[in-house]
Formats: sequence, structure tokens, C-alpha cells
Amino acid sequence: MTKTPRVSKKVVRSEIIRLLRLAMDPGTPIEYADRYVELAREFSMKYRVRIPRQYKLFICKGCKRILRPGSTAIFRIRNLPVKHIYVKCLRCGEVYRKIFGSMKPD
Ligand SMILES: [Zn+2]
Repeated sequence: MTKTPRVSKKVVRSEIIRLLRLAMDPGTPIEYADRYVELAREFSMKYRVRIPRQYKLFICKGCKRILRPGSTAIFRIRNLPVKHIYVKCLRCGEVYRKIFGSMKPD
């Protein structure tokens, strides 16, 4: 029988943030960063803890790997038709937009 150990969500959440901060650190090699993102996502699913919105922006919706501006992704702030962030993953080619103000709390 596999039982998920009882860990407080607060602890898991801080661990997820720690991993994602490491992943976003420009000094962290991309291969490591991808692994940190993978681990953070595993924790998130296993313990049903959401990945904070500000970090979610840096995880590709297509390949679930780290989006690092200038290296694995392009980030652009655009004003038309509405103010949004244009994000393109350079590894899988996924393109998406995040609209300011209407971001769902997820
Ligand atoms: Zn991608």
C-alpha cells in the first residue's frame, strides 16, 4: 500500500517555490532547471498544491520545461489589442499570451 506521507501544504509550497527559484536562476544549467521544474510539478500534483501564478508563467504549457527569457524563451510585453505578455518557447515552439488583469487565480 502506498500512502502519501502527511506533509503540510505550507512545507510543500515552500519546497516548490525553492525548486522553481533554482530553476529560474540564470546560473543553473538548463538541464538542471528542467529537472527542478519536473520535481516542482510532481510535488504540486502529488500534494495538490498549486504552483504560484508568478512561477507558472515560466513553465512552458507545451513541453513543461523552464522558460528562461533570452535563452529558452522569448518574453514580450505588448499593448495591443490589450496589454499582455507574449511568451514563446524556443524549444517546442509553443506560443501563448497572458493578459494582465484577467489572470485567473491559479
Ligand atoms: Zn515548450
